[in-house]
Amino acid sequence: MSRTVAFIGLGHMGGPMAANLVKAGHRVLGHDLVPAAMETAAGAGAEVAASAAEAVAGADVVISMLPAGRHVLALYGDILTAARPGTLFVDCSTIDVADARTAHDRAVAAGMRALDAPVSGGVVGAEAATLTFMAGGGESEFAEALPLLEAMGKKAVHCGGPGAGQAAKICNNMILGVSMIAVSEAFVLGESLGLSHQALYDVASTASGQCWALSVNCPVPGPVPTSPANREYRPGFAASLMAKDLGLAANAVRAGGVDAELGLRAAELYSAYAERVGDTEDFSGIVRTIRDRSGD
Ligand code: NAD
Repeated sequence: MSRTVAFIGLGHMGGPMAANLVKAGHRVLGHDLVPAAMETAAGAGAEVAASAAEAVAGADVVISMLPAGRHVLALYGDILTAARPGTLFVDCSTIDVADARTAHDRAVAAGMRALDAPVSGGVVGAEAATLTFMAGGGESEFAEALPLLEAMGKKAVHCGGPGAGQAAKICNNMILGVSMIAVSEAFVLGESLGLSHQALYDVASTASGQCWALSVNCPVPGPVPTSPANREYRPGFAASLMAKDLGLAANAVRAGGVDAELGLRAAELYSAYAERVGDTEDFSGIVRTIRDRSGD
C-alpha cells in the first residue's frame, strides 16, 4: 500500500532512506534545514516542503532522522499540532532512551501514535536499503511501520515498548565500542610480543576471540582487506558517532546505577579520541592511539 510519508532530516542517512521510500512507490514530503539536502531529495523524486509543519500536515506517517534528542524534541514541539490526529510518528534518530520516551509521551498526549526505530548499518546500509531497525512502541504501530521499514532496510526487530529500540541500539553499540578497544589492545599487545597481525587474526577469528570488530572491521591493515584500516581509516563508522553512542550508553548506565565499568571507560576513551579526529576517521583508528600511548 502506498503511503504519504513526511520525512524530516535528509542528511547522510535520511537522504538515501527517503530516496528508498520513493523507489518503493511511496509519496515522500521531505524537509531539511539545509537547502542542498532538499535539492538532493527532490532529485531522488521526493516532494519538498518549506517547513516541517507543512510536510506533516498531509502525511499518514512522519519519519524523522535528526542528529540528537534535543532536535527531535524541538521538532515534535513544532509539528505535533500540525499533523492529522492519529498520525504515526517514527523517529529513526539515535537519541537518549529518556528523550525517546519523552518524545513518545508528547506524541501520544497530542493524539498521535509513536515508535522509536533507530538503525544500524550506516550510510552504506541506508543507500543499499539494508539497514537493521530496532523498534520500540506498540504492536500495531510496529505493524503499520513495518512495510516502510522494509523499504529502507533488510531487518526490523520489535524490541518492546517505548524507548526499547533506543535501548537495543545503545546496548549493541556499547558491545561494539568495548570490543573494538579490546581487539585493538590485543593487536598492540601482540605487536609488543612479536606476534604478526595475520597470526593473531588467524587464531582469534576462528577461536573464542571472534567478534565483528575483529572479523569484519579489523583495526589493523592486512587480514580483512575491506576493513577501514586498509584505507587509512577513512569511515566506515566515524569515531564521532561511536563517541556519541557510547555517551548515550554512559548516560543510561549512570541513570540506571549499572556497574558497567568497561562501557564507561570506552565512552571516555572514544570521547577523547573523537575530539581529535571527529568524523574524519573510522572508530577502528583508535588502535593507533593505543599504540602511540604504549611503550612509555
Ligand atoms: P546528518 O547530520 O547528516 O543529518 C541530520 C540532518 O538533520 C541534517 O541534514 C540537518 O540539517 C537536519 N536537521 C536538523 N534539525 C532539523 C530540523 N529541525 N528540521 C529539519 N531538518 C533538521 O546526520 P546522519 O549521519 O544522517 O545521522 C542522523 C541520525 O542517524 C543520528 O542520530 C545518527 O546518530 C544516526 N545514525 C547515523 C549513522 C551514520 O553512519 N551516519 C548510523 C546509524 C545511526
